[in-house]
Amino acid sequence: MTALERALAAPKNLTFDELAGMLASEDEGLWREIFAAAREVKVKCGKTETLPRGLIETSNVCAKDCLYCGIRKGNAKVPRYLIPEEEVAACIDEARRRGYPAVAFQAGEIESEANTAYYERLTACATGRAGSMTPPLEVTLSLGEQTEEVYRRWKDAGAMRYLLRIETSNRELYAKIHPAECSFERRLWCVRALKRLGYVTGSGVMIGIPGQTIRDLANDIVFFGDERLDMVGMGPYIEHPETPLSELARRSSEHDVRLDLTLRMIALTRLYLHDVNIVAATALEVLDPEGGRNRGIEAGANVIMPVLTPRKYGCNYDLYPGKAHDRS
Ligand code: SAM
Ligand code: SF4
Repeated sequence: MTALERALAAPKNLTFDELAGMLASEDEGLWREIFAAAREVKVKCGKTETLPRGLIETSNVCAKDCLYCGIRKGNAKVPRYLIPEEEVAACIDEARRRGYPAVAFQAGEIESEANTAYYERLTACATGRAGSMTPPLEVTLSLGEQTEEVYRRWKDAGAMRYLLRIETSNRELYAKIHPAECSFERRLWCVRALKRLGYVTGSGVMIGIPGQTIRDLANDIVFFGDERLDMVGMGPYIEHPETPLSELARRSSEHDVRLDLTLRMIALTRLYLHDVNIVAATALEVLDPEGGRNRGIEAGANVIMPVLTPRKYGCNYDLYPGKAHDRS
């Protein structure tokens, strides 16, 4: 049996060296076979329907200073916002109007009672627990690192899924792209706490981080399997000029290389994990505005997150230049 036949037959049937070897290959014939195999796995696992989750970027206020992110607290140039609850409710209504079964609230990381209570109320609003609005929507949260107590409160309020990217499974690389006060161990603890609490748990990485190697990426895929993730959200790293990492990035891989690598990572993640939800990230559209999202779906992804954030706020959710808004 060839490696691809083995990968098709059952999940986790590729070794680390095989994953790294495939990722490093520039053999176009091999890549055509890998993408076809990833599509075959999608069919086999009943993942051919593309699931929309309306993305509402509720706030760009963040207490952290990740070296790559345009809304890091140290970027004084970005005007800060928190969307008033009634306007988020209107976005939730828009998701219902479009027939989406789910919404996702994503924001900078804040740890406070006011923040916890705000998302409890929004979650109750979307799930219908707050009263009148129907039909109930599923809620995904992507609100960073929190205590177990806070994760539990949001779960009790009705949240079903949580997305917390590990960013890279390489501890040393993680330390290079975060300030000293950020801890890989805490991030990993949070991913595991979410899983333990019963969230449908998603994580993922950025692709094309300066200093990241093919072996790091192969290890990321193994990490997704080891942590038994339910969802994977990966996207290309895109340099933001107002961030410390952007200087290094200018000397690292080109955007088209990162786009190709992201599509390859999606296909290999599908081949390695089989029955998992994979997001075609918004950042794919930035690197290929015409077809990025569809190329992600073709490569093996099955979830899209159309942006529902009102433009007057979303234009300041400035993670990286060119972030797409409402192209659904
Ligand atoms: N604050 C929460 C957190 O960090 O988990 C959720 C929001 S954060 C903006 C969501 C994701 O954006 C991060 O996990 C990171 O992978 C991604 N991101 C931030 N800056 C980026 C950049 N310059 N290029 C690509 N992705 C980026
Ligand atoms: Fe804040 Fe998340 Fe950006 Fe880090 S990636 S600065 S936690 S919004």
